[in-house]
Amino acid sequence: MASKRKLAIDLDSVLADTMVIWVEEFNKRNNSSITKDNIISWDISKILDISITEVSDIFTYIWDKRWIDIPSTEPSIGNIVSNLHNKGFRISILTKRYRTSVSNVIKWLDLHKIHCDDLMFVYDDAPKTDYPFDILVDDAPINFSDLVQPRIGILFNQPWNKNFSWPVRIDALSEVINIIKSYD
Ligand SMILES: [Mg+2]
Repeated sequence: MASKRKLAIDLDSVLADTMVIWVEEFNKRNNSSITKDNIISWDISKILDISITEVSDIFTYIWDKRWIDIPSTEPSIGNIVSNLHNKGFRISILTKRYRTSVSNVIKWLDLHKIHCDDLMFVYDDAPKTDYPFDILVDDAPINFSDLVQPRIGILFNQPWNKNFSWPVRIDALSEVINIIKSYD
């Protein structure tokens, strides 16, 4: 039997719509009214004219204190991931993050009933392409820079990656299955 194809899925802004709560928290602190759609570049600090420390402080804060408010990018995301697993994929969640957020990330995945066969936390700057997968779904174009065929990179559309030229894009995780079919 052929081994299962490995599907690696990013967490922030692919499974979890983290920036929705990030902007909410930013607005509270700055008495502003921006939305996720205003984040049109990867470099949030430049767009909003705040320090890189403030950007990461808000990330740390929301995963620490507001993780339960962070919505999934689609309703019933757990079912969507389970469907992909049932279609024969091995599901890896591959996420680069601070060590302190790990326990709440696990709670968030449980709350949303998201199946995974393994869960990989990257603490340093190792590129995601160092990890084993056949297909990677991510919103960060930088993670596709060392990707070589036959590995497939699927870019998850977000306002900050619109200007990046990449042929394979989805708006929702449920679209992954159609993309894969076209490569079969
Ligand atoms: Mg991400």
